[in-house]
Amino acid sequence: MNAPEALPPAAPAAPAWQRELARAYARPAELLADLGLAPEACGLSADAARDFPLRVPRGFVARMRRGDPTDPLLRQVLPAADETVAMPGFVADPVGDLAALAAPGVLRKYAGRALLIATGACAINCRYCFRREFPYGDHAQGPDRLRESLALVAADPAVSEVILSGGDPLLRPDAWLSDVFARLGGIGHVRRLRLHTRVPVVLPERVDEGLAAVLRSAPRPVAVVLHCNHPQEIDAPVRAACARLRATGATLLNQAVLLRGVNDDAGVLVELAGSLYEAGVLPYYLHQLDPVRGAAHFAVDDDTALRLDAAQRARLPGYLVPRLVREVPGASAKTPLTARATT
Ligand SMILES: *Cc1c(COP(=O)(O)O)cnc(C)c1O
Ligand code: SF4
Repeated sequence: MNAPEALPPAAPAAPAWQRELARAYARPAELLADLGLAPEACGLSADAARDFPLRVPRGFVARMRRGDPTDPLLRQVLPAADETVAMPGFVADPVGDLAALAAPGVLRKYAGRALLIATGACAINCRYCFRREFPYGDHAQGPDRLRESLALVAADPAVSEVILSGGDPLLRPDAWLSDVFARLGGIGHVRRLRLHTRVPVVLPERVDEGLAAVLRSAPRPVAVVLHCNHPQEIDAPVRAACARLRATGATLLNQAVLLRGVNDDAGVLVELAGSLYEAGVLPYYLHQLDPVRGAAHFAVDDDTALRLDAAQRARLPGYLVPRLVREVPGASAKTPLTARATT
Protein backbone atom coordinates (compact mmCIF):
# COMPACT_ATOMS: atom_id res chain seq x y z
CA MET A 1 0.00 0.00 0.00
CA ASN A 2 1.34 3.37 -0.94
CA ALA A 3 -0.03 5.95 1.44
CA PRO A 4 -0.75 9.27 -0.29
CA GLU A 5 1.73 12.03 0.33
CA ALA A 6 1.48 13.85 3.63
CA LEU A 7 0.93 17.56 3.23
CA PRO A 8 3.64 19.86 4.54
CA PRO A 9 2.46 22.38 7.15
CA ALA A 10 1.55 25.74 5.64
CA ALA A 11 4.04 28.55 6.21
CA PRO A 12 2.70 31.64 8.03
CA ALA A 13 2.84 33.72 4.85
CA ALA A 14 1.21 30.98 2.75
CA PRO A 15 -1.83 31.83 0.61
CA ALA A 16 -5.20 31.46 2.36
CA TRP A 17 -5.99 28.22 0.53
CA GLN A 18 -2.85 26.52 1.88
CA ARG A 19 -3.80 27.47 5.40
CA GLU A 20 -7.31 26.17 4.77
CA LEU A 21 -5.90 22.90 3.46
CA ALA A 22 -3.67 22.52 6.51
CA ARG A 23 -6.82 22.77 8.69
CA ALA A 24 -8.56 19.91 6.86
CA TYR A 25 -10.06 17.15 8.98
CA ALA A 26 -7.64 14.24 9.34
CA ARG A 27 -9.16 12.48 12.37
CA PRO A 28 -12.43 10.58 11.83
CA ALA A 29 -13.41 10.95 15.50
CA GLU A 30 -13.23 14.74 15.26
CA LEU A 31 -15.21 14.80 12.01
CA LEU A 32 -17.99 12.62 13.41
CA ALA A 33 -18.15 14.56 16.67
CA ASP A 34 -18.56 17.82 14.74
CA LEU A 35 -21.35 16.23 12.70
CA GLY A 36 -23.08 14.98 15.86
CA LEU A 37 -22.60 11.33 14.88
CA ALA A 38 -21.54 8.25 16.85
CA PRO A 39 -18.78 6.19 15.15
CA GLU A 40 -20.82 2.98 15.56
CA ALA A 41 -23.73 4.52 13.62
CA CYS A 42 -21.53 5.17 10.59
CA GLY A 43 -19.58 1.95 10.01
CA LEU A 44 -16.32 3.76 10.71
CA SER A 45 -13.26 1.52 10.41
CA ALA A 46 -9.85 2.22 11.95
CA ASP A 47 -8.29 -0.32 9.55
CA ALA A 48 -9.66 1.51 6.52
CA ALA A 49 -8.44 4.82 7.94
CA ARG A 50 -4.96 3.37 8.42
CA ASP A 51 -4.78 2.13 4.80
CA PHE A 52 -5.99 5.38 3.27
CA PRO A 53 -6.28 8.26 5.73
CA LEU A 54 -9.24 10.53 6.11
CA ARG A 55 -8.72 13.94 4.58
CA VAL A 56 -11.52 16.42 4.03
CA PRO A 57 -11.45 20.23 4.00
CA ARG A 58 -13.68 22.07 6.48
CA GLY A 59 -15.68 23.84 3.80
CA PHE A 60 -16.73 20.51 2.31
CA VAL A 61 -17.82 19.25 5.72
CA ALA A 62 -19.91 22.39 6.17
CA ARG A 63 -22.07 21.16 3.26
CA MET A 64 -22.84 17.85 5.01
CA ARG A 65 -26.11 17.35 6.90
CA ARG A 66 -25.48 17.12 10.64
CA GLY A 67 -26.66 13.96 12.33
CA ASP A 68 -27.14 12.01 9.09
CA PRO A 69 -24.88 8.94 8.76
CA THR A 70 -26.11 8.44 5.16
CA ASP A 71 -25.15 11.92 4.00
CA PRO A 72 -23.89 11.60 0.40
CA LEU A 73 -20.86 13.82 1.01
CA LEU A 74 -19.88 12.02 4.20
CA ARG A 75 -20.15 8.66 2.47
CA GLN A 76 -17.53 9.75 -0.08
CA VAL A 77 -14.90 10.46 2.56
CA LEU A 78 -15.52 8.36 5.66
CA PRO A 79 -13.21 5.30 6.10
CA ALA A 80 -15.76 2.47 6.26
CA ALA A 81 -15.67 -1.15 7.35
CA ASP A 82 -17.02 -2.13 3.91
CA GLU A 83 -13.62 -1.18 2.45
CA THR A 84 -11.87 -4.00 4.25
CA VAL A 85 -13.96 -6.69 2.54
CA ALA A 86 -12.06 -8.28 -0.37
CA MET A 87 -14.09 -8.65 -3.57
CA PRO A 88 -13.02 -10.61 -6.65
CA GLY A 89 -12.34 -8.29 -9.59
CA PHE A 90 -11.51 -5.28 -7.38
CA VAL A 91 -7.77 -4.74 -7.75
CA ALA A 92 -4.92 -2.29 -7.07
CA ASP A 93 -4.56 -0.80 -10.58
CA PRO A 94 -7.99 -1.21 -12.22
CA VAL A 95 -7.39 1.23 -15.08
CA GLY A 96 -3.99 -0.01 -16.24
CA ASP A 97 -2.16 3.20 -15.35
CA LEU A 98 1.09 1.46 -14.50
CA ALA A 99 1.13 -0.14 -17.96
CA ALA A 100 0.40 3.24 -19.62
CA LEU A 101 3.38 5.07 -18.13
CA ALA A 102 5.50 6.36 -21.02
CA ALA A 103 8.02 7.54 -18.44
CA PRO A 104 7.72 8.25 -14.73
CA GLY A 105 5.10 10.98 -14.42
CA VAL A 106 3.73 10.79 -17.98
CA LEU A 107 0.79 8.64 -19.07
CA ARG A 108 0.20 8.00 -22.76
CA LYS A 109 -3.04 6.10 -22.69
CA TYR A 110 -5.35 8.42 -24.62
CA ALA A 111 -4.77 9.05 -28.34
CA GLY A 112 -3.30 12.51 -28.99
CA ARG A 113 -3.23 13.41 -25.31
CA ALA A 114 -0.42 13.23 -22.79
CA LEU A 115 -1.24 13.21 -19.10
CA LEU A 116 1.27 14.67 -16.66
CA ILE A 117 1.02 13.58 -13.06
CA ALA A 118 1.53 17.00 -11.52
CA THR A 119 1.59 15.77 -7.94
CA GLY A 120 0.45 12.78 -5.91
CA ALA A 121 -1.38 14.93 -3.38
CA CYS A 122 -5.12 15.70 -3.24
CA ALA A 123 -7.11 18.12 -1.10
CA ILE A 124 -9.55 15.35 -0.19
CA ASN A 125 -9.29 11.58 -0.01
CA CYS A 126 -12.22 10.03 -1.85
CA ARG A 127 -12.80 6.48 -0.71
CA TYR A 128 -13.73 5.21 -4.19
CA CYS A 129 -10.63 6.60 -5.90
CA PHE A 130 -8.25 4.37 -7.83
CA ARG A 131 -5.52 6.62 -6.53
CA ARG A 132 -5.90 5.00 -3.12
CA GLU A 133 -3.68 2.19 -4.43
CA PHE A 134 -1.64 3.80 -7.21
CA PRO A 135 1.88 4.87 -6.24
CA TYR A 136 1.39 8.44 -7.50
CA GLY A 137 3.93 9.78 -5.06
CA ASP A 138 6.58 7.87 -7.05
CA HIS A 139 5.53 9.62 -10.26
CA ALA A 140 5.10 13.24 -9.23
CA GLN A 141 7.00 15.90 -11.14
CA GLY A 142 10.22 17.14 -9.55
CA PRO A 143 12.32 19.61 -11.58
CA ASP A 144 14.37 16.94 -13.43
CA ARG A 145 11.41 14.75 -14.15
CA LEU A 146 9.40 17.72 -15.38
CA ARG A 147 12.15 18.60 -17.86
CA GLU A 148 12.13 15.00 -19.11
CA SER A 149 8.34 14.89 -19.31
CA LEU A 150 8.19 18.10 -21.33
CA ALA A 151 10.96 16.81 -23.61
CA LEU A 152 8.84 13.73 -24.25
CA VAL A 153 5.87 15.90 -25.20
CA ALA A 154 8.06 18.12 -27.39
CA ALA A 155 9.45 15.08 -29.23
CA ASP A 156 6.02 13.70 -30.14
CA PRO A 157 4.07 15.79 -32.67
CA ALA A 158 1.05 13.51 -32.14
CA VAL A 159 0.43 15.14 -28.76
CA SER A 160 -2.02 17.97 -29.34
CA GLU A 161 -3.29 18.23 -25.77
CA VAL A 162 -1.57 18.08 -22.41
CA ILE A 163 -3.62 17.15 -19.36
CA LEU A 164 -2.34 18.09 -15.93
CA SER A 165 -3.67 15.48 -13.54
CA GLY A 166 -2.65 13.82 -10.32
CA GLY A 167 -3.41 13.69 -7.54
CA ASP A 168 -4.69 17.20 -8.02
CA PRO A 169 -2.69 19.67 -10.13
CA LEU A 170 -4.26 22.67 -8.37
CA LEU A 171 -2.35 21.78 -5.23
CA ARG A 172 0.71 23.01 -7.08
CA PRO A 173 1.51 26.68 -6.44
CA ASP A 174 0.66 29.32 -9.03
CA ALA A 175 4.32 29.77 -9.98
CA TRP A 176 4.67 26.09 -10.83
CA LEU A 177 1.54 26.11 -12.98
CA SER A 178 2.51 29.24 -14.85
CA ASP A 179 6.01 27.88 -15.50
CA VAL A 180 4.62 24.61 -16.91
CA PHE A 181 2.09 26.49 -19.05
CA ALA A 182 4.79 28.76 -20.40
CA ARG A 183 7.01 25.82 -21.31
CA LEU A 184 4.12 24.01 -22.98
CA GLY A 185 3.41 27.21 -24.89
CA GLY A 186 6.82 26.79 -26.48
CA ILE A 187 5.80 23.46 -28.03
CA GLY A 188 4.01 24.26 -31.28
CA HIS A 189 2.02 21.05 -31.65
CA VAL A 190 0.40 21.38 -28.19
CA ARG A 191 -2.86 23.15 -28.98
CA ARG A 192 -4.90 22.63 -25.84
CA LEU A 193 -4.23 22.56 -22.11
CA ARG A 194 -6.39 20.78 -19.61
CA LEU A 195 -6.63 20.50 -15.84
CA HIS A 196 -8.38 17.61 -14.10
CA THR A 197 -9.22 18.79 -10.61
CA ARG A 198 -11.60 18.35 -7.71
CA VAL A 199 -10.11 21.35 -5.89
CA PRO A 200 -12.57 24.08 -7.02
CA VAL A 201 -15.33 21.90 -5.52
CA VAL A 202 -13.65 20.77 -2.31
CA LEU A 203 -11.34 23.74 -1.63
CA PRO A 204 -12.82 26.70 -3.55
CA GLU A 205 -10.44 29.05 -1.68
CA ARG A 206 -7.75 27.79 -4.07
CA VAL A 207 -9.40 29.64 -6.96
CA ASP A 208 -7.94 32.97 -5.95
CA GLU A 209 -6.82 35.96 -8.00
CA GLY A 210 -3.35 34.45 -8.43
CA LEU A 211 -4.70 31.31 -10.05
CA ALA A 212 -7.06 33.34 -12.23
CA ALA A 213 -4.07 35.34 -13.48
CA VAL A 214 -2.21 32.14 -14.37
CA LEU A 215 -5.17 30.88 -16.38
CA ARG A 216 -5.79 34.22 -18.09
CA SER A 217 -2.22 34.27 -19.34
CA ALA A 218 -2.11 30.62 -20.44
CA PRO A 219 -0.61 30.32 -23.93
CA ARG A 220 -3.37 27.99 -25.22
CA PRO A 221 -7.08 27.50 -24.55
CA VAL A 222 -7.62 25.82 -21.20
CA ALA A 223 -10.30 23.30 -20.27
CA VAL A 224 -10.90 22.63 -16.59
CA VAL A 225 -12.56 19.30 -15.91
CA LEU A 226 -14.05 19.43 -12.42
CA HIS A 227 -15.11 16.47 -10.36
CA CYS A 228 -18.42 16.87 -8.56
CA ASN A 229 -20.71 13.95 -7.74
CA HIS A 230 -23.70 15.43 -5.95
CA PRO A 231 -25.63 18.73 -6.13
CA GLN A 232 -25.11 19.22 -2.38
CA GLU A 233 -21.38 19.73 -3.15
CA ILE A 234 -22.20 23.00 -4.91
CA ASP A 235 -22.60 25.93 -2.53
CA ALA A 236 -22.03 29.67 -2.86
CA PRO A 237 -18.21 29.53 -2.54
CA VAL A 238 -18.07 26.80 -5.22
CA ARG A 239 -20.28 28.85 -7.53
CA ALA A 240 -18.00 31.85 -6.97
CA ALA A 241 -14.92 29.74 -7.76
CA CYS A 242 -16.53 28.51 -10.97
CA ALA A 243 -17.50 32.05 -11.97
CA ARG A 244 -13.92 33.17 -11.44
CA LEU A 245 -12.58 30.27 -13.52
CA ARG A 246 -15.06 31.03 -16.29
CA ALA A 247 -14.07 34.68 -16.31
CA THR A 248 -10.55 33.61 -17.34
CA GLY A 249 -12.00 32.17 -20.56
CA ALA A 250 -11.56 28.55 -19.48
CA THR A 251 -14.10 25.93 -20.57
CA LEU A 252 -15.60 24.22 -17.52
CA LEU A 253 -16.72 20.59 -17.69
CA ASN A 254 -17.61 18.10 -14.99
CA GLN A 255 -17.00 14.44 -14.53
CA ALA A 256 -18.86 12.51 -11.89
CA VAL A 257 -18.50 8.94 -10.72
CA LEU A 258 -21.66 6.87 -10.34
CA LEU A 259 -21.64 5.80 -6.69
CA ARG A 260 -24.08 3.60 -4.82
CA GLY A 261 -25.63 5.45 -1.91
CA VAL A 262 -24.38 8.81 -3.22
CA ASN A 263 -25.81 9.63 -6.64
CA ASP A 264 -27.42 6.43 -7.98
CA ASP A 265 -30.75 8.19 -8.28
CA ALA A 266 -32.29 9.88 -11.33
CA GLY A 267 -33.54 12.85 -9.32
CA VAL A 268 -30.08 13.48 -7.85
CA LEU A 269 -28.38 13.25 -11.26
CA VAL A 270 -30.91 15.59 -12.88
CA GLU A 271 -30.45 18.07 -10.03
CA LEU A 272 -26.66 17.76 -10.36
CA ALA A 273 -26.84 18.62 -14.06
CA GLY A 274 -29.02 21.66 -13.35
CA SER A 275 -26.84 22.92 -10.50
CA LEU A 276 -23.67 22.49 -12.55
CA TYR A 277 -25.18 24.41 -15.44
CA GLU A 278 -26.19 27.25 -13.14
CA ALA A 279 -22.59 27.35 -11.95
CA GLY A 280 -21.36 27.61 -15.55
CA VAL A 281 -20.23 23.98 -15.85
CA LEU A 282 -21.35 21.43 -18.44
CA PRO A 283 -21.81 17.79 -17.40
CA TYR A 284 -19.27 15.81 -19.39
CA TYR A 285 -18.80 12.27 -18.11
CA LEU A 286 -20.63 10.00 -15.74
CA HIS A 287 -18.12 7.26 -14.98
CA GLN A 288 -18.78 3.73 -13.96
CA LEU A 289 -16.65 3.07 -10.90
CA ASP A 290 -13.14 1.81 -11.54
CA PRO A 291 -12.99 -1.54 -9.71
CA VAL A 292 -10.33 -0.58 -7.20
CA ARG A 293 -9.78 -2.71 -4.14
CA GLY A 294 -11.84 -1.42 -1.19
CA ALA A 295 -14.53 0.32 -3.25
CA ALA A 296 -16.87 -2.56 -4.16
CA HIS A 297 -19.63 -1.21 -1.91
CA PHE A 298 -19.89 1.85 -4.20
CA ALA A 299 -20.44 -0.19 -7.37
CA VAL A 300 -23.63 0.26 -9.40
CA ASP A 301 -24.49 -2.53 -11.85
CA ASP A 302 -24.58 -1.72 -15.57
CA ASP A 303 -28.34 -2.27 -15.94
CA THR A 304 -29.01 0.29 -13.22
CA ALA A 305 -26.49 2.69 -14.76
CA LEU A 306 -28.21 2.42 -18.14
CA ARG A 307 -31.61 2.97 -16.56
CA LEU A 308 -30.30 6.13 -14.86
CA ASP A 309 -28.85 7.26 -18.18
CA ALA A 310 -32.23 6.79 -19.90
CA ALA A 311 -33.97 8.68 -17.09
CA GLN A 312 -31.63 11.66 -17.55
CA ARG A 313 -32.21 11.66 -21.31
CA ALA A 314 -35.95 11.70 -20.69
CA ARG A 315 -35.75 14.68 -18.34
CA LEU A 316 -32.83 16.86 -19.49
CA PRO A 317 -31.86 18.70 -22.65
CA GLY A 318 -29.23 16.71 -24.54
CA TYR A 319 -26.45 19.15 -23.67
CA LEU A 320 -26.91 18.47 -19.96
CA VAL A 321 -26.72 14.67 -20.21
CA PRO A 322 -23.22 13.42 -19.33
CA ARG A 323 -21.76 10.58 -21.38
CA LEU A 324 -22.01 7.33 -19.44
CA VAL A 325 -18.60 5.67 -19.80
CA ARG A 326 -16.13 3.33 -18.27
CA GLU A 327 -12.38 3.18 -18.36
CA VAL A 328 -11.21 -0.05 -20.00
CA PRO A 329 -7.52 -0.85 -19.44
CA GLY A 330 -5.60 -0.57 -22.70
CA ALA A 331 -8.35 1.37 -24.54
CA SER A 332 -7.25 4.68 -26.12
CA ALA A 333 -10.49 6.47 -25.14
CA LYS A 334 -13.36 6.02 -22.71
CA THR A 335 -15.76 3.23 -23.59
CA PRO A 336 -19.46 4.21 -23.71
CA LEU A 337 -21.85 1.93 -21.86
CA THR A 338 -24.49 0.58 -24.17
CA ALA A 339 -27.39 -1.78 -23.61
CA ARG A 340 -26.25 -5.38 -23.83
CA ALA A 341 -27.21 -6.95 -27.13
CA THR A 342 -29.94 -9.49 -26.48
CA THR A 343 -29.78 -12.63 -28.53
C1 LIG B 1 -10.74 9.99 -19.02
C2 LIG B 1 -9.70 10.75 -18.43
C3 LIG B 1 -8.91 11.56 -19.22
C4 LIG B 1 -9.09 11.69 -20.73
O1 LIG B 1 -10.36 12.16 -20.93
P1 LIG B 1 -10.99 12.55 -22.34
O2 LIG B 1 -11.88 13.67 -21.95
O3 LIG B 1 -11.72 11.35 -22.78
O4 LIG B 1 -9.92 12.99 -23.22
C5 LIG B 1 -7.92 12.25 -18.59
N1 LIG B 1 -7.71 12.17 -17.27
C6 LIG B 1 -8.47 11.40 -16.48
C7 LIG B 1 -8.20 11.36 -15.02
C8 LIG B 1 -9.51 10.67 -17.02
O5 LIG B 1 -10.26 9.91 -16.23
S1 SF4 C 1 -9.78 14.24 -5.67
FE1 SF4 C 1 -9.83 12.85 -7.44
S2 SF4 C 1 -7.78 11.93 -7.50
FE2 SF4 C 1 -8.04 12.87 -5.47
S3 SF4 C 1 -8.80 11.22 -4.14
FE3 SF4 C 1 -10.60 12.30 -4.94
S4 SF4 C 1 -11.19 11.17 -6.80
FE4 SF4 C 1 -9.10 10.59 -6.27
